[in-house]
Amino acid sequence: MVAPEIKPEIKINEDILNRIFFITERIVAFDGLADVFEHIVKTAVQLTRAEAATIRVFDIDSGKLEIVKGWGLSNGFLSQPPIALGEGITGMVVLEEKPFSTVNVTKVGRCVHKELAKLEGIKAVMSVPLKTRECAIGCITVYRKKAEAFTEHDMLLLNIFAAQASETVEKARAIGELKNQAIYDSLTGLYNKKFLLQVFETEIKLSLRHGYETGIMFLDIDDFKKFNDTNGHLFGDKLLSDFAGVLKGHSRKTDIAGRFGGEEFIIIAPHTGKNGALRVANKLREVVSKHKFTGRNKDVRITFSAGISSFPEDGTDSIELLKKADDAMYVSKKAGKNCVTKWTNKI
Ligand code: GH3
Ligand code: MG
Ligand code: MG
Repeated sequence: MVAPEIKPEIKINEDILNRIFFITERIVAFDGLADVFEHIVKTAVQLTRAEAATIRVFDIDSGKLEIVKGWGLSNGFLSQPPIALGEGITGMVVLEEKPFSTVNVTKVGRCVHKELAKLEGIKAVMSVPLKTRECAIGCITVYRKKAEAFTEHDMLLLNIFAAQASETVEKARAIGELKNQAIYDSLTGLYNKKFLLQVFETEIKLSLRHGYETGIMFLDIDDFKKFNDTNGHLFGDKLLSDFAGVLKGHSRKTDIAGRFGGEEFIIIAPHTGKNGALRVANKLREVVSKHKFTGRNKDVRITFSAGISSFPEDGTDSIELLKKADDAMYVSKKAGKNCVTKWTNKI
C-alpha cells in the first residue's frame, strides 16, 4: 500500500500573526484609507520577504483596477495605466478571485507590462485577490527582483493577510463615508449646515485673532417652488446641485460655500469687508442669471436674492451675523427679488 503524501505542516510564528492581524485589530490607528493602503503594501513586503508590493483596487468611475499604493517601485512603474478586469495577471486574479504566482513574470504570456517589469528588474511575482463577501475589490501583488519563487508558505501568509486587509479597506471606506456625511450635503457636495456653522465659528475666531474682516452672504433662490411645480422635484434637485456648482466655480478658493437648507446657501468670505462681499454677491448674481439651468422641457434661467453682513462691523457672534444676513436677504425679496442687500441698523 502506498502511504498517503503528507504535506509538511506550515508553521506561522506569533510575530507574523501579530503583523497579519494588526490591521483589523487596530483600524482606529489608521488615518484614513491612504494610510491603510500604505500599511498593506509595507506589511505584504515584510510577510513574504519581497522587495516591492502594490495594491490595486477597482475604481467604479473608470471601471478599472488602479494602483492605489506601491512600495519599493519606481514612479514610472507605478504610473502605468489602470487595467481592466480580466486583463493581464492582476486583472485575472481579481476576475477569477484566484491567486497567481510565477518565478519569472517576463516569461508569462498574459503579462501585459513585460517591458515595464524588465525595466524595473522584476522577476518573481505573486498576486492574491482582496475578497469581500460579495466580490473581489482588488489585489495585493508582491515582487522580487531575483528569480526566487514565492513559496506555499508565502502564498498562505499573503492570503490570510489579504482577507484581513480587504475587511479593513471596507471598514476604512465606510468610516470615510460617514465622515463625509457629517461634513457634506449629499445633494450638492457643499458643506452642510452643521459643519458650516462650525467652520464659521472658527473663521470668526481667526478673523478676531488676525484682525481682518469676514463677509457673510445669505443666498435664497427666487421662486424655487414654482420651478419645482413646473419641472418636478428631480429637476429641482438637479437645479440645486448645478446652482451649487456655479457658486463653487465662480467663488474664490478661500471662500467657504455651504447649503444652509432647502434652496438657501451661505458663502463665507474671509478677508472681505461688507462692500467686497456685496461685489462678490452681485458678480455671482450676474453669473447665475445668465446660466442656462436644465428644466424638464427647456433650459431655464433663475435668479437669487441675497443679504450681506460682515464681521466685525455687524457683530462678533456667528448666529447674530447669520441672522442679520438673513434679514437683509428678506429685504431683497421684498424689493422684488434678484438683488443683494447689505444689513444696516435700519432693517
Ligand atoms: P422665494 O422666491 O420667496 O424664495 O420663494 P421660493 O418658492 O423660492 O421659496 P419657498 O420657501 O416658498 O419654497 C421653497 C421650495 O424649495 C419649497 C420646497 O419644496 C423646495 N425644496 C426645499 N428643499 C428641496 C430639495 O432638496 N429638493 C427640491 N427639489 N426642492 C426642495
Ligand atoms: Mg427659502
Ligand atoms: Mg426661495
